Amino acid sequence: MLDRDRSQRDGDTEPPTLVIRELEYLGPMATPKGWRPTHAYPEIAFAGRSNVGKSTLINKLVQRKKLARVSNTPGRTREIHFFRVNQDFVLVDLPGYGYARIAKERRAEWKPLIESFLRDSAGLRGIVMLLDVRRDPSADDEHMLEFLAELGLPVIVAVTKVDKLARSEVAQRVTAIAKSLGLDEEQVIAFSAVSGTGRKELAEAVMSLLAQPSWRSS
Ligand code: GDP
Repeated sequence: MLDRDRSQRDGDTEPPTLVIRELEYLGPMATPKGWRPTHAYPEIAFAGRSNVGKSTLINKLVQRKKLARVSNTPGRTREIHFFRVNQDFVLVDLPGYGYARIAKERRAEWKPLIESFLRDSAGLRGIVMLLDVRRDPSADDEHMLEFLAELGLPVIVAVTKVDKLARSEVAQRVTAIAKSLGLDEEQVIAFSAVSGTGRKELAEAVMSLLAQPSWRSS
């Protein structure tokens, strides 16, 4: 679990920030008023359009091969899935949205569920919003970010699949994506589940969100 090679390469001797000792699938939330875990733990949610690489990123983050597979099982992709990490927090896998071919009807399904979850989650500390490095943010991505901004929810943006581009192209794309969303480039984490790029930064960003008091109480 201790990423020694990377720590040494980066000249960074900080202890590991996210060590997974226990992982438990808690269950799905299927409707806006449906079952969800009680708020015993702080929550971090992961959002993004279908196929952005969300399941792969979650599995890489928690260093399990198949943790988020349940969320990609046919019939379950429209539910919100909850995973308890250690005795520390609950990882929330939101349904992937905005799949081009089925846009309109599906949007009517995911929007109320995601929005009611985000509105009513007392323990929610922040969102990791995923964007594919090769694509410009879609209207659904922008809608989601606007909604998060309205709620005042802290957001980490992770740009996925950066191994698919050369390093210089990644830098250009990160600049362009940050600019189009009005974000500082430093708020954007370049991530690849294939090379492991960004895993440590993302883990640290998640841990620092968890260390902050709930934004709702301020
Ligand atoms: P989800 O629908 O957002 O959960 O997306 P998945 O995690 O299922 O990934 C969608 C596709 O992108 C799959 O074919 C993955 O293998 C691929 N993928 C995901 N992450 C990466 C990555 O970091 N690099 C590359 N090259 N492919 C990735």
